[in-house]
Amino acid sequence: MFEVVIGLEVHVQLNTKTKLFCSCPTSFNHKQNTNTCPTCLALPGALPVLNKEVLHKSIMLGTAIDATINKTSYFDRKSYFYPDSPSAYQITQLYTPVVENGTLQIDFEDGSNKTIRINRAHIEADAGKNIHDGDISKVDLNRAGTPLLEIVSEPDMSNAQEAILYLKKLHSIIRYLDIGDANMQEGSFRVDVNVSIRPKGDKKLYTRVEVKNINSFKFIQKAIEVEVRRQSEAWEDGVYEREITQETRLFDQVKSETRSMRGKEEAADYRYFGDPDLLKVVVTDEMLDIYTKIPELPDAKRDRFVKEYAINEYNAGVLTSTLEMANFFETMMREDISAKNALTWLTVELLSHFKGGVNIANSPVDAKKLGFLVKRIEDKTISAKAGKDVLEYLMKKNEDVDAAIDSLGLKQVSDSGAIETMCEKIILANPDKVEQYQGGKDKLFGFFVGQVMKASKGTANPQTVNEILKEKLG
Ligand code: ADP
Ligand code: MG
Ligand code: ZN
Repeated sequence: MFEVVIGLEVHVQLNTKTKLFCSCPTSFNHKQNTNTCPTCLALPGALPVLNKEVLHKSIMLGTAIDATINKTSYFDRKSYFYPDSPSAYQITQLYTPVVENGTLQIDFEDGSNKTIRINRAHIEADAGKNIHDGDISKVDLNRAGTPLLEIVSEPDMSNAQEAILYLKKLHSIIRYLDIGDANMQEGSFRVDVNVSIRPKGDKKLYTRVEVKNINSFKFIQKAIEVEVRRQSEAWEDGVYEREITQETRLFDQVKSETRSMRGKEEAADYRYFGDPDLLKVVVTDEMLDIYTKIPELPDAKRDRFVKEYAINEYNAGVLTSTLEMANFFETMMREDISAKNALTWLTVELLSHFKGGVNIANSPVDAKKLGFLVKRIEDKTISAKAGKDVLEYLMKKNEDVDAAIDSLGLKQVSDSGAIETMCEKIILANPDKVEQYQGGKDKLFGFFVGQVMKASKGTANPQTVNEILKEKLG
């Protein structure tokens, strides 16, 4: 009887080398307060100058979401005092952001999809960090002035699943464009979830609650669920008006509840006004031409994989879920192997070895090697079963595929003379089984094949074994 309404704000830290308005490095893990200068410390008289790379990356995102790129945009000051913001205002884009009116499509498992509208993407400066240490609090301004792109959706999502699909799609687009690391744990992809409920069918928007401080997809899902429950219970208990107010709440991962953090300010509280220190941002035709060139995006890549490699949409979706995975697959395919085998050896076999920090980016068996291993299975140098042993070995030992096959003695025996000898041995050793088989117990054929394979330690070519046994057993 309730409908859920969700709108998402995502702060993406752009991976530029230098900060938004000064030439301080953006790299973190440096000694506290060393990546600073008069501009990002907001010392009087220091003037900000826009980093062009930020504009470039913002426009790439705008292009990816089919948005309007404003050829003129402006910077505004959002006033608030906080110890980690030495200027007592944040430079952002309120009135005319660089990117407006985009869309992003989410795909459901049943093949249907939904378009989520994106209101805007605007550039803004990040604050520093407060570090609380017992009784004292310290401020580290290394992050102050780091460029953020805030991407604000319309309230178009109606449940946690849709919100997660939207975020995963956006996350993957950012990685594909290589405009940010989008690491949720490290805070380079920060999500604020706005949630409200309304009676089913009602078109009006009810009071929204903003939930912050959620750093994984799993917790976002959880936060939405508990917040929806809190709001609908308040409604059912007749205390909705009193208890559900426009506010910012924190998600407590341990207790799995949301808690009030502060009342939500209205725009007027921030005393927004155009920043007099900054020029308007003008995107020339020439810049637009360069900045709107973007690489192939996840959806397009998925559709291409379906066509080019004749795999189904689901598998293509798995392969293109990250750029690393998609590139890995395509590098394997250069070994001229079947897509079906490449898919299995990548998404089933290789992935099963990923633990303890081993992942696709640092896998000891790289794409070329795995592709070549598959090739060795396809050209029958080794059996598929032996392939698994070779893979396991190569995950620990840096050898090339052929050397590993030799070291392990797994080269498949297709030489019929050798296999014939093995078959004869097995037949001689099992006279009773031979009799039963020849008496009509066809099922025993598998037993003989198994025995020969075992005797050969899996190296006999099963097809040859089959042929020879058939002939010998009659
Ligand atoms: P603020 O910075 O004050 O949070 P923004 O305009 O940046 O405001 O973001 C508002 C977000 O809240 C948007 O994502 C919008 O879609 C969403 N939103 C607005 N109204 C509602 C509502 N009633 N229920 C859920 N989400 C809402
Ligand atoms: Mg907000
Ligand atoms: Zn600086």
